[in-house]
Amino acid sequence: MSQESDCLFCKIIAGQIPSTKVYEDDTTYAFKDINPKAKVHVLVVPKRHYGNVAALAKQDPQELSHIVEVAQSIADKEFHGEYRLVFNTGRDAGQTVFHVHAHVLTGEVLDE
Ligand code: AMP
Ligand code: ZN
Repeated sequence: MSQESDCLFCKIIAGQIPSTKVYEDDTTYAFKDINPKAKVHVLVVPKRHYGNVAALAKQDPQELSHIVEVAQSIADKEFHGEYRLVFNTGRDAGQTVFHVHAHVLTGEVLDE
């Protein structure tokens, strides 16, 4: 599995840094955001390292589609299937971890 040695999320996926797991399969890992912005705030990440969603879309569109399915299943369980899905892309857009991750915000009615 391609990993980057100084990547926080690669370390979380490898179990070297603790996280609260929500879901896992062969290609994908989901865990609770440490600083939640909604009642339920989960990060869904591919186990393979891609820097952002555009790189993921280009190199593994099937995995991007799978991440949406995982997000949907979390929201189905937590909040009648409704959720916000955010990919911050680039430093000036608020991306701080350069291993692509979907923010799944759900569990309550969200502000517009
Ligand atoms: P972004 O700013 O879009 O790159 O999102 C990075 C997210 O990772 C932020 O929402 C952080 O709260 C979250 N985060 C940072 N460190 C951890 C950690 N150790 N465990 C869980 N979430 C984290
Ligand atoms: Zn990584």
